[in-house]
Amino acid sequence: YPYPLSQPLRRRWCEDDRLWTASEIAEAINGEIIRRAPSGTISIDSRTLVPGQWFFAIHGENFDGHDFVDESLADKGCVGIIGNRVCGNWDRGFIRVEGDTLIALEKLAKYARNRFDGILVGLTGSVGKTTTRSMISLALESLGRTHQTRGNFNYMVGVSLTLIGIPLDAKFAVVELGFGGLEGEILKMAQMCQPSVRVLLNVRHSHMEHFTSLEDVARAKGELLKEAQPGDICVLNADDPLIMNVPVPAGVQKVLFGQKRGCDVRLALAESIDGGRSVRVVLESNVSAYRNLFPVPRESVHELVEFKIPAPGLHLATNACAAAAVAASLGIPLAQIGESLSRFRPVPMRSDVQVTEDGITIIDDTYNANPTSMAAAINSLKTMQCMGKRVAILGDMLELGAAEAEAHELVLKLCSDPCIGLVILAGKRFTAAAEKVNFMRNHNVLCATDAESLLARMNELLAAGDVVLVKGSRGMQMEKVVDMIKAVS
Ligand code: ATP
Ligand code: MG
Repeated sequence: YPYPLSQPLRRRWCEDDRLWTASEIAEAINGEIIRRAPSGTISIDSRTLVPGQWFFAIHGENFDGHDFVDESLADKGCVGIIGNRVCGNWDRGFIRVEGDTLIALEKLAKYARNRFDGILVGLTGSVGKTTTRSMISLALESLGRTHQTRGNFNYMVGVSLTLIGIPLDAKFAVVELGFGGLEGEILKMAQMCQPSVRVLLNVRHSHMEHFTSLEDVARAKGELLKEAQPGDICVLNADDPLIMNVPVPAGVQKVLFGQKRGCDVRLALAESIDGGRSVRVVLESNVSAYRNLFPVPRESVHELVEFKIPAPGLHLATNACAAAAVAASLGIPLAQIGESLSRFRPVPMRSDVQVTEDGITIIDDTYNANPTSMAAAINSLKTMQCMGKRVAILGDMLELGAAEAEAHELVLKLCSDPCIGLVILAGKRFTAAAEKVNFMRNHNVLCATDAESLLARMNELLAAGDVVLVKGSRGMQMEKVVDMIKAVS
């Protein structure tokens, strides 16, 4: 190995060291090898690059990766550059490619997809993609190495990087497809991924600034199914009428999940237990394994399983049902799926329950917010057992377009329950909604312009025994409030 590595780093990164040889990269992107270098994985971010990686210099909206090609990159152990140019004294690997390097990155992703002969699961929806993706991965891992989207890398570049990072020995890849709002965007990502299993979770009001109606959202999400091939599997939410209207190409196996009778995998029961901290789930399956990857054929198609998800929120049961539908359609017995899902742990910043040293329970749901996930989170807060008071600290919901004002008012209505002792609102949208519906008159409410201005008062407002939900859109940075509650207690 050409560069010194600490032992832990060596163990962590060397397993995938051989992921991309210089020749493969050059072939995939139609580039020219100017200087060879050892094989490695790919990074587009000079800040997070680790030893042994190639740096792919892409042109972003606000930056050009080529500007970061210097000694500091070499100091970090970068083995080579893929891009249009390098500066004079760069003496490591270099693969030159003409034109837009973003397009070259997509070419590399397509090459990665084509050399992967495992099962690729692609999923989209308005809420719950990341949570469901991690549940699907849990269920599939029992059959073999499973690669999944890291963090929330779910747009074009993120999906490309996910494909490029599929380990050579992976059996499954679970890829989250998000949505930036342009028509054809999901279709383009789906063409790159060519999923064998395509999952449509739900159609709700989120990322609405580019849409006039939910039908538009359904059309955009439905692009995921458009080019499904005969023999592919589509896993669809039967409880969502807009999803049931999405056309499914001929020859594609349809697997329905949800609470409706007749679903292939049915959510027979979802119940809050352990003082609201867990969910008891009963699933019933009649699905035939469309691709039976399980080594032992199943005796009966009708199966029933009960398990506990150790995290709050009934919505997790729906996500688990979707994940089970994916796994069952690939032949995994329902009992084994239940066992895997009972090991689910919340993805950070999504329904993540933490107890501070001073006995304040925080439901950290700060990753993002839209009306659906707000409703789910407020429900979790209401069902959570509480020795002190229940507190909702809510930041504005962004990207809602025309539905914005009404959506904030509706959330306040959900908070109009005597079991919630204090509501703290951050942001001008919630403040305006609270004034409009005269929310302050009947409730214990505090309004602030942003998360930061709330911080100073946390100490006096919260006490041991309180259960505190913290949630807001990404741009509201409500995680700062969580940090502050932990710091003062
Ligand atoms: P993004 O569009 O930001 O990628 P996502 O679709 O990946 O979001 P998650 O990150 O899984 O969704 O969850 C976002 C929020 O929605 C979290 O607050 C989570 O608790 C909540 N949530 C997850 N699944 C559901 C669901 N089925 N119904 C309602 N809310 C949900
Ligand atoms: Mg996500």
